[in-house]
Amino acid sequence: MAYVICFPCIDVKDTACVDACPVDCIHPKKNEAAGYRPDVQVDYEHTDQLYIHPEECIDCGACQPVCPVSAIYPQDEVPREWGSYIQKNRDFYTMTWEEFKKKYSIELTEPSA
Ligand code: SF4
Ligand code: SF4
Repeated sequence: MAYVICFPCIDVKDTACVDACPVDCIHPKKNEAAGYRPDVQVDYEHTDQLYIHPEECIDCGACQPVCPVSAIYPQDEVPREWGSYIQKNRDFYTMTWEEFKKKYSIELTEPSA
């Protein structure tokens, strides 16, 4: 199981959760370029929201209370209307950025090289 970042994070991206996470499993981070790790192909500026790596999350819950917009939930408590975000968080780390943008209709400019 893992925690999941849902809809309210979109265009907020304040990264409070990144600072709270003890295992560094929330990306993309502000200070890391696209491709700094193979499964994060977009930088902070060009992503729509942040995502939790479902295999790296240790389910500690530290990120949830610091989120100013209540975007973070344990997987089994994700509100029904945001259920697709469970797969969206996983897809962020397994799909190419082109595939991901197409699947989720993300209208953003290309990440800088
Ligand atoms: S639940 Fe813990 S390990 Fe998982 S993303 Fe949140 S802070 Fe990181
Ligand atoms: S704390 Fe909440 S709004 Fe801020 S980046 Fe994390 S999930 Fe998004």
